[in-house]
Amino acid sequence: MSENKIPYKIYLSEDEVPKAWYNLRADMKNKPAPLLNPGTLKPLTAEELTPIFCEELVKQELDENTAFIDIPQEIRDFYRMFRPSPLIRAYCLEEKLKTPAKIYYKFEGNNTSGSHKLNSAIAQAYYAKKQGLKGVTTETGAGQWGTALSMACSYFDLDCKVYMVKVSYEQKPFRREVMRTYGASVVPSPSDTTEVGRKILAEFPGTTGSLGCAISEAVEVATKSEGYRYVLGSVLNQVLLHQSVIGLEAKAAMDKYGVKPDIIIGCAGGGSNLGGLIAPFMGEKLRGEADYRIIAVEPASCPSFTRGTYAYDFCDTGMICPLAKMYTLGSSFIPSANHAGGLRFHGMSSTLSQLYDDGYMEATSVEQTSVFEAAEQFARVEGILPAPESSHAIRVAIDEAMKCKETGEEKTILFGLTGTGYFDLVAYEKFHNGEMSDYIPTDEEIAASIAKLPKV
Ligand SMILES: *Cc1c(COP(=O)(O)O)cnc(C)c1O
Repeated sequence: MSENKIPYKIYLSEDEVPKAWYNLRADMKNKPAPLLNPGTLKPLTAEELTPIFCEELVKQELDENTAFIDIPQEIRDFYRMFRPSPLIRAYCLEEKLKTPAKIYYKFEGNNTSGSHKLNSAIAQAYYAKKQGLKGVTTETGAGQWGTALSMACSYFDLDCKVYMVKVSYEQKPFRREVMRTYGASVVPSPSDTTEVGRKILAEFPGTTGSLGCAISEAVEVATKSEGYRYVLGSVLNQVLLHQSVIGLEAKAAMDKYGVKPDIIIGCAGGGSNLGGLIAPFMGEKLRGEADYRIIAVEPASCPSFTRGTYAYDFCDTGMICPLAKMYTLGSSFIPSANHAGGLRFHGMSSTLSQLYDDGYMEATSVEQTSVFEAAEQFARVEGILPAPESSHAIRVAIDEAMKCKETGEEKTILFGLTGTGYFDLVAYEKFHNGEMSDYIPTDEEIAASIAKLPKV
């Protein structure tokens, strides 16, 4: 099909929303390392995980062999409200950059929560409801996950308790109110409502919190309250599984027009949107059917892939969670209060960590002022106001497109536009006022938290 026949937006029909999630682990020769019990250092069994997570989600977490897992009809009914999401050909950006590159982005911000996180939130709420639970607890960094989960919980009439990283709670009061609108209760973390929160506050008075602290608090409350389980919005295998709808739809839309990406780019916090976007492409790469260049983009302030260590570590600051083998900066690493809230986690998905370690993908880190420059450039021509997290991917997509301009190569670039930035306008304001700084941790800071990694 000729080039000019590709529309600005490629929509699939409702029937083309995937009927099954794709489990990337099924095609990996080196499987991601198992979660370990922090006490015994043995791989966690389903029995040990069920007091924390919903039963069906534990099965998904541990299943590394089933390639396709059916999406229940109730979840597909909810997906219908905002899926399929559009795949957009960035004609305006290409023209502005005067690049021969062809740029596509998969836009996941078309729902009230404003990000891809709803794809997994609705699945996790569904399985909690099916198990007859009263409610769920969770943490949220920038607030997107908490918002998505509160929407999903209100749909299935479940109670939702959200521990929100204190810096975001204060910087993003409107996020908090959206969550409360959907019926969730929101507590700034660290708080004095949990044992682990009180301990962290005593050790680091005045801390602005971290995702790791908030996870510890949410897990404590879930395990101590009857009829509650903990849910997590990123990092875990089950979350990457649910997010595979992003990649499956993107690939189906591209296949329709016979387009194959050369480069696939995504921002990486805990790795869920990137893991979802690349899933079917990475599957082809693992099976030797096709090759793609895949780039994870992380903030220079929290560089787990590019400056972290591949080792077993706690997922939380309170060190009560299972150990995961991942690229990590150490669970005691507290990133500076930068504005890419959703990318502040100290570790990275075990699945992506293994793929990165095996050389199937690359990673790069970018500084936040250059990220906001890219965000602004993008907003001015493509219209969408991007989330700061998503703008990490925009930065690198633009950089790659500019390289094509130098070399004259007509590469096809696909990137994930994970969400909108309406709740991040304080960050945009700082950027516009020239008050934004680029904090990069020193080698000593990283070494100090790496020295505290558990000895496994
Ligand atoms: C949470 C979030 C991210 C990062 O999380 P991943 O699990 O790495 O995908 C990226 N973009 C947006 C808009 C988010 O809300």
